[in-house]
Formats: sequence, structure tokens, C-alpha cells
Amino acid sequence: MPLLALSNLVDGRLCPAASGDYLDVFEPATGKPHARCPDSGTRDVDAAAAAARRAAPGWAALPAQERARHLHRLAAAVEARLDDLARDESRDSGKPVALARSVDIPRSVANLRFFAEAITQWPSEAHVDARALNFTLRQPLGVVGCISPWNLPLYLFTWKIAPALAAGNTVIAKPSEVTPLTAFRLSELAIECGLPPGVLNIVHGLGPKVGQAMVEHPQVKAISFTGSTRTGAAIASAAAKSFKKVSLEMGGKNPAIVFADADLSDANLDTIVRSGFSNQGEICLCGSRLLVQRSIFEEFRQRYLAKVKALRVGDPESDASDLGALVSQAHFDKVMACIERAKAEGGRVLAGGQAVNVPGRCADGWFVAPTVIEGLPQDCATNREEIFGPVVTLLPFDDEAEAVAIANGTEYGLAASLWTSNLDRAQRVAARIDFGIVWINCWMLRDLRTPFGGVKHSGVGREGGVEALRFFTEAKNICIAS
Ligand code: NAD
Repeated sequence: MPLLALSNLVDGRLCPAASGDYLDVFEPATGKPHARCPDSGTRDVDAAAAAARRAAPGWAALPAQERARHLHRLAAAVEARLDDLARDESRDSGKPVALARSVDIPRSVANLRFFAEAITQWPSEAHVDARALNFTLRQPLGVVGCISPWNLPLYLFTWKIAPALAAGNTVIAKPSEVTPLTAFRLSELAIECGLPPGVLNIVHGLGPKVGQAMVEHPQVKAISFTGSTRTGAAIASAAAKSFKKVSLEMGGKNPAIVFADADLSDANLDTIVRSGFSNQGEICLCGSRLLVQRSIFEEFRQRYLAKVKALRVGDPESDASDLGALVSQAHFDKVMACIERAKAEGGRVLAGGQAVNVPGRCADGWFVAPTVIEGLPQDCATNREEIFGPVVTLLPFDDEAEAVAIANGTEYGLAASLWTSNLDRAQRVAARIDFGIVWINCWMLRDLRTPFGGVKHSGVGREGGVEALRFFTEAKNICIAS
């Protein structure tokens, strides 16, 4: 069967890359190509930028309610295709269809709806004194760029596109070349919904070609990026040359900290397990370092391991699978190498530690068993560097001060979760750890109004709620003398 050929969306039309070249897109569960996406380059970004520039004045001039109506229409179209999109997302990324159906696609719908509503509710600022009235105009930037990763493809793609469009910008968006399928589906839906040509342009291809051309393009006024810290650094330095605004959401090495006084009900323990292994551990918010107070360490470990060992790795199409395949051969190799490095550093593998063979259609897929490792100090590479797979390390600690020191012992600072029934302690520790997001007795409980992002090497700027609308607009103060 010929591979499904994906297209770019430029000026309201589906088209191939100017070069006519394609990249193979693999199905992680089978290890085989299932589609091809345009291998675009500078010419395609130029065409998208020209279309976006032409569309910008008209789109910015629409009343906020009109732009919101367009976003609501797109949200409804995505929702109507929920099942198909969930299957596409799973095929591209290896995640269980059930997860895409319950998390990725509903959240994509929610992103579009949230920013459609937010833009109609966003108040203006005014400052009045005896001498003057100052008010702040928040104007769209013009053409903006959105670059997203492979782990939550449509979820993170829409998380950027929705506020950019709501705020009145026109967009050039680049999904990951590893998981381009649902972004292509969004292109089809944008046309079907009558989004004006040039308002949303989607250009597929490699980061160093398409992404870099976007970052360097003089018409692109801002870049909203989610991906690895290494790419974020390259984007920050390239964007600095033209003083582009950048928002960078990058890697993490997140702690989950369990105090002896935590309520370790079965449901809470399930959440702690999920915080390590959901989406095969390929979520920037996953807690990959599990810090447990020494007085409960042995008992906790026993209960935790029993749950981890019960997780089922299998065909993402089966509802019985808790974990699917890792996203690519390269990522599979990286995660396996990290497990070997952990062993070489003296880590003891308590669960998993090996690839999983899933017989039948998935025999050549990239599956890894949920892996738990103990016996490693905080300052080893395993505990400092992001693995981004189903690998959790267990670290005992004696008291609050030690927990804080271990938690902060990494260059990353995205998200942490704390488990304790002592609210004073929770607040004290939350204030002392260097992370942009702290969950107490929960994980990944998201309210889209809250600021989202990391500190240190995990991020620059914040997404979410008005933070995203601020990023995608320029403030202009207007002072009228009394
Ligand atoms: P990546 O950095 O390799 O790629 C991300 C995107 O950037 C892709 O679209 C890629 O094509 C593009 N890109 C690559 N090189 C580029 C360049 N030179 N210029 C412009 N664009 C370029 O990341 P990935 O492997 O796709 O995603 C995994 C990473 O994303 C992990 O580190 C994870 O922690 C991070 N992540 C962070 C968050 C967050 O909110 N902080 C969320 C999800 C994922």
C-alpha cells in the first residue's frame, strides 16, 4: 500500500514542499513507515511568511468575538473527529489510543475553546491619576512562529496556535517531523472550517531546515517553542540576532517527593505511578526521580514496585495496554543506553530494564518495560539528565532539607509533586524548590488559566492563560493628559 502523503498548509491550500521531497514517518508500534511528510525548506517558509503577512491585517482587524468564533468552529471539528484523531496520534507516536482519546485530543479541543473564550474576556489595563489617563493597548505582533515536539503532538501544537490566533496574529506552525499526522489533519479541518487563507500556515519538515528558517525569518516576530533544552538554546541564540521574542518550554528532570506523613491510598499511589510512566514517561512533566522519606522507604518500595510490575506494555491499539511504544528507533536506543549507563553507575534495576517484545504486528516495535532503578546518588548523570522514557529512579531522604537539596540538584526546574498531609510542610517545601510548577498531593492537574513553564534550563517565559496572550501581543502605553 502506498504511504499516506501529507501536505503543508500554505495560504489556505494543501501543497507539497517546493523541493518535492518527503521524509518517512514511522509507526513506532511496528517500526515501519506509515506516511511521508513534506521535507520543506526556506522556500516553503518564505511562501508561508508571505501568506501570513498578507492575511495579518485582516485577521487582526476582526473583532475578538469573530476570531473566537473561528476557533470554536475548529474546536468543534476536532471534537467531531476525536476517535480518528486519537488513532492517528497513536499511530504516529506509539502512545495508547486510549490515552490519546482521553487526554491528547480532548485537551486539543479544550485549548482551542479556552483561548477562544479567553480573548473575549481579556480586560484592558488603565492607570489614572490627576494628571493623565494611561491605558495599555495590547496589539498582535503580526506573523508568529510556533514550533512543537513529538510527545504530545496535537495537544502542544494547539496550545501554541490557539493563543497566537486568538490574540490576532497570523501563524506559521511547525509540528515535529516525527509526529506530523495530526497537524496535517488540523490543516484539512482548518480549510473545511473556512479559516481565512494565510491565517494558519503549517510547514512540515526538519528542525534545522524549517524551524531554523522560521527563527531567522525577518517577518516572524516571535517564536513559541516547546522541545529539548539543546534546541531551545540554539533558537534563543539565533533569535537574539534579530531581537525576536521567544518563549521556550524545554526539558525536565522532575522530582516526586513522598513524605512519611503522605496519604498513600491506593488511588494516590496509582497517581504516583502514572506520574512516572504515563505516555511511556515521554511527558516533560513526568516525575522521573522519586524521592521517598527513609522511614517509609522499604514499605513504599514494595507497594510501588508491585504496581509498576503490573503495568502492561503492548499494542497501542489495545485498550489493555498501559504503555505503548517509544516514539522512534533513535529514542528507543537513547533510553536503552541510559538504562545501561545507570547500571554502569552502580544502579540496581528493581523492575524492567529491558526492551519488550510484543508479538504479532508489533514484533518490530520500540517497546521498553517500565523501569525502576535504585542505589544512585543525586549527582550522577542518571539523576541529573533527562531520559524522557519509562525510567524512574528511587532516592531515599531523611528530612525536608535533604529532600529540597536532592530536588534542586539538577539543571532543570520544570515541575515537582509533593506528597504530604502536612500543609505547612507542603507550602514550605514548595517555596524552596526551584521549579515552575509544584503539585501537592496530585499530578498533572491542569487549569489552563495558570502560568505554565519552568525555571533554570527548563524554560524561559510562561504559557497558559493571560501569560500566553501577553506573549503574543506587544504592549503600547498611551498617555492622555487630563
Ligand atoms: P526537539 O528539540 O528535538 O524538537 C522540538 C521541535 O523543534 C521539533 O519540531 C524540531 O523539528 C524543532 N527543531 C529542531 N531543531 C531546530 C532548530 N535548530 N531550529 C528550530 N527548530 C528546531 O525536541 P523533541 O525531541 O521533539 O521533544 C522532546 C523534548 O521536548 C524533551 O526534552 C521534553 O522535555 C521537551 N518538552 C518540553 C515541554 C515543556 O512544556 N517544557 C513539553 C513537551 C516536551
